[in-house]
Parts: sequence; C-alpha cells; structure tokens
Amino acid sequence: MAALPGRINRLEQALRQICDEVDRLKQEVKALEDENARLRQEVAGLYLAEGEDSGANRPGARNLWNLYDKGFHICNLYFGKGRDGECIFCYALMNRGEPSDGA
Ligand SMILES: [Zn+2]
Repeated sequence: MAALPGRINRLEQALRQICDEVDRLKQEVKALEDENARLRQEVAGLYLAEGEDSGANRPGARNLWNLYDKGFHICNLYFGKGRDGECIFCYALMNRGEPSDGA
C-alpha cells in the first residue's frame, strides 16, 4: 500500500484538475447561455418585425403561432424556450395582437 501522504497528494492534484475542469465548463456554459440569449432576441426581433409589417394578413402572427405549436414560447418572458403545456403569456401576447372584428 502506498504511503498515506503520497496518496493524499495525488488526490489533491486530482481534485485540483477536476476543479479547473469545472471552471472551464462553467465558462463554456456562460458563453453558450449568452449566445443563446442573443440568438433568442434576434429571432424574436425577426418574428415581431414581420408581424408589424404584415398588415391585415399578419403572416408574422401566423409564424408566431406556428412556433408556439411546435412547442416554443413566443411571449417576451420565455421567447424561444421549449414549453410544457399552455402559456397564458403567449396567449395574452397573441390576443393583444389580434385585430378587432368591430363586432
Ligand atoms: Zn410563453
């Protein structure tokens, strides 16, 4: 059996390597989260700009509902994130955007 101080040193080194690797992973996760947030905003901007320009036919709104049907949020709170079940914020957004029937 190896001497106890030697085993402790090796364990310490292994722990340091693991901590360094965890730090690197944290940095990568942060970078990916930042990029993800930026891409979400970009996509949100594209969808919402389409909705504003489209007038009565509102293809932007249809695109948004398509996105919603595919299982993503379209509300400002969670735009682009996968959703479990219905979201009242998404519904509120789309209802606010509905043109009035004048009825
Ligand atoms: Zn939502």
